[in-house]
Amino acid sequence: MAQQAVGRFAPSPSGRLHLGNLFCFLLAWLSARRQGGRIILRIEDLDPARSKRKYTEQLQRDLALLGLVWDEGGLDAAGPHAPYEQSRRAALYEQALAQLRAQELVYPCFCSRAQLHAASAPHAADGEVVYAGTCRNLTDEEIRRRTLVRPPALRLRVPDEEMVFQDLHYGRTTQNLAQACGDFILRRSDGVFAYQLAVVVDDAEMGITEVVRGRDLLASTPRQLYLYRLLGFPAPRFGHLPLLLAPDGRRLSKRDDDLSLDALLARGLSPAAITGALGFAAGLLERPEPATPDQLIPLFSWDKLPREDVRLPSSLF
Ligand code: GLU
Repeated sequence: MAQQAVGRFAPSPSGRLHLGNLFCFLLAWLSARRQGGRIILRIEDLDPARSKRKYTEQLQRDLALLGLVWDEGGLDAAGPHAPYEQSRRAALYEQALAQLRAQELVYPCFCSRAQLHAASAPHAADGEVVYAGTCRNLTDEEIRRRTLVRPPALRLRVPDEEMVFQDLHYGRTTQNLAQACGDFILRRSDGVFAYQLAVVVDDAEMGITEVVRGRDLLASTPRQLYLYRLLGFPAPRFGHLPLLLAPDGRRLSKRDDDLSLDALLARGLSPAAITGALGFAAGLLERPEPATPDQLIPLFSWDKLPREDVRLPSSLF
């Protein structure tokens, strides 16, 4: 029998969810449910300065209100892969880091933000700074001396090699890690683990078989696949989604209060009107009519989704 699909919601509780987040969660949920699969809710609260418990509580209420029911995980939840908050999973990230250190692929980096910008290679296509490798070959003595002055971040050496994968939606995708990002951060100088490491460790440990998320993270996937390889974990399937745009073509952000769930409900829209509008944006409905997530399950298919970013339907305004 084929392995059961396990998808996930991986919100960062640094503000209210916006419709772009909900669009991703709806589609991650539909993809898993269409295959009779399950969904795990993992709280990506790695950054203590930006994450707030009240946002986690709120996003859980928002998901439940829309009918996006998860099967495992969430705040303070018990379960086979507990804890489900990244802030409580540092021991697992430490273990992975030790595995990478044992392969002699990790080195300390003392560059300040300003130095990183000054020494960076020309920006990669998506505006990301490519690390120039300034601290790649420091001697033990230099490392000792500099550690006395400031705590280092930790970076992973990446190979000058093409990573190739098949995205469920965007198809064959290739990226050379050395050219796209260079040696990337595993742990910040303040001790906070980097998203790239934590997400791989968690998706692997939680048995996630498919990662469905916005295409803003497409460029991170080769880094994550490299970590899967080094850590000896089987990689999940990846499906990236077009981004949802405001009606004027802007990208949505947590600052767009008029498009928060609260604002839409306050304007009198029902939860089904909102999920229906998102289902329409995903190409699953011919009209932006009310539809619950359950009603959208039989309609879900990757082929119907547009590749280009989609503007929100005016039914929401
Ligand atoms: N926590 C990330 C975010 O909210 C999502 C990470 C992922 O889906 O891999 O943007």
